[in-house]
Amino acid sequence: MEHAGARVPTGAYADAMAPTGERAATASAEPVANPAAGAQILLIEDEPGIVDFVRRGLEGHGFSVRAETDGIAGERTALAQSVDVVVLDLMLPGRSGLEVLAALHEAKPELPVIVLTARGEVEDRVAGLDSGAVDYLVKPFSLAELSARIRAQLRTASLGTPTRLEAEDVEVDLLSRKVRRQGHPVALSATEFELLVHLMRNRGRVVGREEILSAVWGYQHDPATNIVDVYIGYLRRKLRLPDSPAPIHTVRSVGYRFGRA
Ligand code: CA
Repeated sequence: MEHAGARVPTGAYADAMAPTGERAATASAEPVANPAAGAQILLIEDEPGIVDFVRRGLEGHGFSVRAETDGIAGERTALAQSVDVVVLDLMLPGRSGLEVLAALHEAKPELPVIVLTARGEVEDRVAGLDSGAVDYLVKPFSLAELSARIRAQLRTASLGTPTRLEAEDVEVDLLSRKVRRQGHPVALSATEFELLVHLMRNRGRVVGREEILSAVWGYQHDPATNIVDVYIGYLRRKLRLPDSPAPIHTVRSVGYRFGRA
């Protein structure tokens, strides 16, 4: 199963991960003030069992996870969306992980990428693409280890990244997860917070319902669902002030926009 390109059966993979349960439990028992909370992780991996396992595990560690299952969609999402860390499998349909890595390195050199690789696959082939933003994890790996690597990348990235968002009259502290409007504290649920952060990171741009679903809920919903509209409603109500509606605009049949166009 270490052979490059070998498909690891889900069962064997899950078994290989099993001994890490204890470590994962330890990791999730860390203090609540987790700087990783809400960080957007893009997982580019074609094996459904690994996608499910990693997604559930990382969400359990407080990350928001979006998954793409081929190299083309993965690269597009990494370039178009707000992503904090990419977790990239090398053996992918559509476009190989190495091609995706090269494209990301070119277009977003500061975007941290953690490459998932079979043992021995990486040394000769990826050396030329190496940069400070690339880390490697050899399969089979533990979720605790992946989570730790992601946090390490986030810490490095955060040295040059603001921990606060401010737009219109709304301030968000990404570390403490505190939100204020015109200085008044606003108490949001975890989902409402993710939704607000996603809208603010894309302020001035119309964000479609499907993009919001993927970014905030992290999986492909029934497109007919109205969950986005429902949560926009919650968020607006909480951000609203007596003489000032929330700065979230509806763009009919397209989506929502935070702030002015
Ligand atoms: Ca693969």
